[in-house]
Amino acid sequence: MSDTSELNPCLACGACCKSYRVSFYWAEAEQRGLPAFLTEQVNPFLSCMAGTNTKRPHCAALLRSSDGGFACRVYEQRPAPCREVQIGDDKCLQARARHGLPALPVDGLSREM
Ligand code: SF4
Ligand code: SF4
Repeated sequence: MSDTSELNPCLACGACCKSYRVSFYWAEAEQRGLPAFLTEQVNPFLSCMAGTNTKRPHCAALLRSSDGGFACRVYEQRPAPCREVQIGDDKCLQARARHGLPALPVDGLSREM
């Protein structure tokens, strides 16, 4: 684990990008400038990040870095569900458990990758 990932556990994790359907009101994609090829229509009201509307979600925007870490290729444009996850909150803990990773203490920091 690099010094950076010790400071920011998200860089060595990415579990919440591989655990849930990341859905949002369809107009948010255009408002944030999300590329169309990275989103999918769920119904007339909702879109989701491509790759997350399956039994084994894996967001198409999740990148693997050369050192084995993770990064979001649309971090500045990521939709609301991605902004709401906090390190150590229920979604974080459930996602990490799903991927065999230990729980992290709540630290009030937003996910950053
Ligand atoms: S918020 Fe939690 S589950 Fe999501 S990348 Fe960060 S440490 Fe992993
Ligand atoms: S858009 Fe980025 S932060 Fe959101 S699930 Fe995909 S890779 Fe993760």
